[in-house]
Amino acid sequence: MTASRTPATPPILLVHGGAGVIRETLTPEIEAAVEHDLARALEAGHAVLRDGGSALDGVAAAVVVLEDSPHFNAGHGAVFTHEGINELDASIMDGSARHAGAVAGVRRIRNPILLARAVMEQSPHVMLFGEGAERFAESIGTPFVDPAWFHTDTRWQQLQDAIAKESAGRQAELGRAIHYGTVGAVALDTQGRLAAATSTGGMTNKRWGRVGDSPIIGAGTWADDRVAVSATGWGEYFIRAGVARDIAARMAYGGATLTEAAHAVIDEVIPALGGDGGVIAVDRDGNIALPYNTDGMYRGWIDRDGRAHTAILAAKG
Ligand code: ASP
Repeated sequence: MTASRTPATPPILLVHGGAGVIRETLTPEIEAAVEHDLARALEAGHAVLRDGGSALDGVAAAVVVLEDSPHFNAGHGAVFTHEGINELDASIMDGSARHAGAVAGVRRIRNPILLARAVMEQSPHVMLFGEGAERFAESIGTPFVDPAWFHTDTRWQQLQDAIAKESAGRQAELGRAIHYGTVGAVALDTQGRLAAATSTGGMTNKRWGRVGDSPIIGAGTWADDRVAVSATGWGEYFIRAGVARDIAARMAYGGATLTEAAHAVIDEVIPALGGDGGVIAVDRDGNIALPYNTDGMYRGWIDRDGRAHTAILAAKG
């Protein structure tokens, strides 16, 4: 008797490049460059998934492209701390096994998402921070980069503006420009496995070792056998709301659909606390959701039809 095999279903991949879109500052050039790199990330991740690669491999491949792009607040192009340093946070979760890995405050790792994955796969821990995380990286042979790799003039200028406004007592004017630009990906692979990954430089002018939601499993990133979520937004609120895990819990315990769960958290819970941002999410049935409550969210997706879409503002989908 021949063993019957479930036919592989086409994979699904979603990416984001942050929910800090400010309509007034979007130029056609920025829009085109951002959408180009979102499309490159989609293609990199989807190629892995199409070849039968795991959801985990797919999200990692997509996030590496976004970390290497200067247009997002992660890896090259990350925001600066108050002291003018780049401190990077990332996390990854494999929904099928519920394995997770994360790093926070690393300064010399080109692709923090790969180090987060190494923490998951090559250490007995889930989260490592700062110098310790870099010692671990060294112990497993991760190549280091000069911190200058992360520098972009745009982010440096944002820090100078933030410091100037702060010393003039005009922080309120900074708004969400200092907060967002994080990148992330979620995937459902041909075997029905889910994974999520998120990577960030955090927020401009951060100090005291501030860490946001992105490397925190259950806040910025979550994947189980039902749903995968990657968030972007004002990290302090996303931690307090346990955003990614709340979406999963509403589905698991409350019977909510993905759309209901994701919209309840982003449209109700987060604004009620005073925060803002968005998520990308996919569930095991292939439903997708990309809610945000800011002007826009840099985002892209390839559904089961295999067609790539990118969008920034609401009008474009
Ligand atoms: N959530 C990130 C943080 O607070 C920022 C972002 O989404 O861009 O660190």
